Amino acid sequence: MADDSVRVRFAPSPTGLLHVGGLRTALYNYLFARKHGGDFVLRIEDTDRDRYVEEAEEDIISALRWTGLDTDEGPEAGGDHTPYRQSERGDLYRSYAQKLVDEGAAYYAFDTEEELEALRARGEGDGTVAYDASTRRDMRNSLTLSPEKVERKINEGHDYVVRLKVPRSRTIQFSDKIRGTVSFDASEVDDQVLLKSDGMPTYHLANIVDDHLMEISHVIRGEEWLSSTPKHVLMYEALGWDPPTFAHLPLIMSPEGGKLSKRDANRLGIPVYVKDYKEAGYEPEGLLNFLALLGWNPGTEQELFTHDEMIEAFSLERVGASGVQFDLDKLRWVNEHYVRDLSVDALADRVRPVVDAEGYEVSDERLRTICGLVQERVQVAPEVVTDNRYFFEDPDEYEEAGVEKRWKEASGDLLLAYAERLEEVETFDTDTVETELRDLADEEDVGAGAIIHPARLAVSGRSYGPGVFGLLAAVGKDACIRRMRAAVDRLG
Ligand code: GLU
Repeated sequence: MADDSVRVRFAPSPTGLLHVGGLRTALYNYLFARKHGGDFVLRIEDTDRDRYVEEAEEDIISALRWTGLDTDEGPEAGGDHTPYRQSERGDLYRSYAQKLVDEGAAYYAFDTEEELEALRARGEGDGTVAYDASTRRDMRNSLTLSPEKVERKINEGHDYVVRLKVPRSRTIQFSDKIRGTVSFDASEVDDQVLLKSDGMPTYHLANIVDDHLMEISHVIRGEEWLSSTPKHVLMYEALGWDPPTFAHLPLIMSPEGGKLSKRDANRLGIPVYVKDYKEAGYEPEGLLNFLALLGWNPGTEQELFTHDEMIEAFSLERVGASGVQFDLDKLRWVNEHYVRDLSVDALADRVRPVVDAEGYEVSDERLRTICGLVQERVQVAPEVVTDNRYFFEDPDEYEEAGVEKRWKEASGDLLLAYAERLEEVETFDTDTVETELRDLADEEDVGAGAIIHPARLAVSGRSYGPGVFGLLAAVGKDACIRRMRAAVDRLG
């Protein structure tokens, strides 16, 4: 059902590389927009210049491009609401801050850093005392100073901020698509700074002004913003604007419980930044499929979704409110299916940079052969190399259990005889290495396995892997013969 009025935004602050959690937020916004035939807007919330990171915006945009989350409006796509970078939206926010003051919903505060420090220090235990209805009367602001004094201070150029005037007691309610009715007691909400002394808006002010001006219908964002929402609701009310519909996505939890911190993620081998997933060789579609399920439950057994199926099936009603554990094995499982769906050529293209980075020299043709052999055995494309190094270099050890089980008294002689035969063959391909092996087995009156197993061990160092004849052919004649002789030297 197309609904022109659906407009959602992904509004990251460029304070660092894009996290995987941020990508999930972008994805849910994207799916919701596409499902309803609405617009997906990218807005860069860069008013906090202290935390601004130069490369962050480019990183966000390239993450969206890599995963194919196309934006309808944004700094690159343009649109009816340009500019989409808050730092370029000029004095806009100041006039709304002023309007809030005029409406009695905000006030000027002149407190110095020392005075604020003293306020904080009043909290003995945790050292936090809020600037709110219970404390603002002790401070220097337009609610405690006379209007003349306020005017004088402003005219004299004293620093001031604009703070939200949160009522002393009141229930602030809003409805959330995921959580139902959410209530906060005003006493839990502090008098948020909306405009800083340098005239720049804080996130809160800029965010609601732009959501309104950009006609955002649904605000879909992480749970960490839930406690900011009552502040936003108060501003919408004071400005006489209808608030958007809110949907706060569940937290992403560590597999061990608790919110997934960067430290835990590093310790558990979970990539943190979208860029790291790309570098680790995940398929962008696989990552999106996995993230779609990290909080959304399709209500069926289906776990693998094409792009279109995902859009079709997605709904905010089926997003849960409680935290979801990040399951790396699940991601790898999902990704594996996307690797299987690649053409051999596409897989070889993915693997080529890994091969080059490792300094291996392999022709494109041989690389395609290798990819074809192990495609069904890897979960992430680079594993073609990292899990199968024997294609590229001689093994320097032999799997112990394999040797125990498979390396017999007669193995050495059989392998030497096999190597000798292989020296003579002209075209070293899957068929000839097989024929030679079977002929030798017949001649020696042994089962083929008596040569196959030691040959695999000698050439790959392992007792398992893709079909042995294909493996030998892919490794190549000289390397096979050299490795067989080396194994006989070492294993007897
Ligand atoms: N700029 C905020 C962030 O970095 C946006 C939060 C929101 O979506 O309102 O996530």
